[in-house]
Amino acid sequence: MKIKNVLISGGAGFLGSHICNYYMANKYNVYSIDNLSTGFISNIKNFINEPNFTFVKYDIVKPLKNKVFSTKFDLIINMASPASPPQYQKLALETLQAGSTGTMNLLELAMRDNARFFHASTSEVYGEPEVHPQPEFYKGNVNSYGPRSMYDEAKRYAEALIYVYHYKYQVNTTIARFFNTYGPNMDANDGRVVSNFIVQALKGIDITIYGDGSQTRSFCYVDDLVKGIVALINSKESGPINLGNPSEFTIKQLAEKVIKLTRSKSKIIYKPLPADDPTQRKPVITLAKSKLNWKPVISLDDGLIRTIDYFSTIINTQ
Ligand code: UDP
Repeated sequence: MKIKNVLISGGAGFLGSHICNYYMANKYNVYSIDNLSTGFISNIKNFINEPNFTFVKYDIVKPLKNKVFSTKFDLIINMASPASPPQYQKLALETLQAGSTGTMNLLELAMRDNARFFHASTSEVYGEPEVHPQPEFYKGNVNSYGPRSMYDEAKRYAEALIYVYHYKYQVNTTIARFFNTYGPNMDANDGRVVSNFIVQALKGIDITIYGDGSQTRSFCYVDDLVKGIVALINSKESGPINLGNPSEFTIKQLAEKVIKLTRSKSKIIYKPLPADDPTQRKPVITLAKSKLNWKPVISLDDGLIRTIDYFSTIINTQ
């Protein structure tokens, strides 16, 4: 059988590195492209020297077709974007460009090569949801002019671009909307809630809840998500399809779980809730269950234990 070529943008980031890992284990020729603005070479250290792995430090916003790659790709997976609120606010224009020009450059490559194209979208396209839980047909309640808009609108624009390439140019595209994924290879300093709480608990410093902690999120362990992504890529579905864990927790419950599982002496402190922070989020995954035969199987407790193990090693070696 012919060995397949897969291009993974954002391939040194938290999720991108897990996708690289999956396709390395499945003997693809893996090409990882990342500008390293929020990704790290350390995330791909286990396979960077393998003969079937190629890493290119490059920004997808710059022209791609006929520039970086002459390889013909069978599969293109777009995971490139800052994803945590403090990071995408710091890299605001870069985030808008990754979702627009960057995504379009990758779609052009997919059209050139007749490749399957997968795009990582987000529950942020639902904004501050007035429908709970959120099914794919809910059109969302996004603020186009606010501190989250550079991320939310970039992801919405990317979906619109993909719609055009799919229906006007018959590119074989598919879209998943992820809900708060966590696990090893998260950046300890990127400001997301799971990494912040675990690092604070392990260091014995105050755990920072923003607002009163009654806002909810539904956390999906990364191994579950990767299985969903692969199932979607291997299907004929074009999406968008929600991929997330429908078990919903308040941020206060998350803080309490992390304190218990780390046996930490950290105290909870409360800080102001950032503007436009969604009050609730929970995916409807009926489509993923019926079309992909996928559902998450790792509970929040089990996933947190594995993530705490990961952060314990990296914090001890810092
Ligand atoms: N949050 C918190 N303390 C932190 C970091 C985040 O209470 O140290 C809250 C944040 O305000 C939000 C939720 O946790 O309500 C999830 O934040 P995250 O940045 O992980 O992702 P989001 O789902 O908001 O994009």
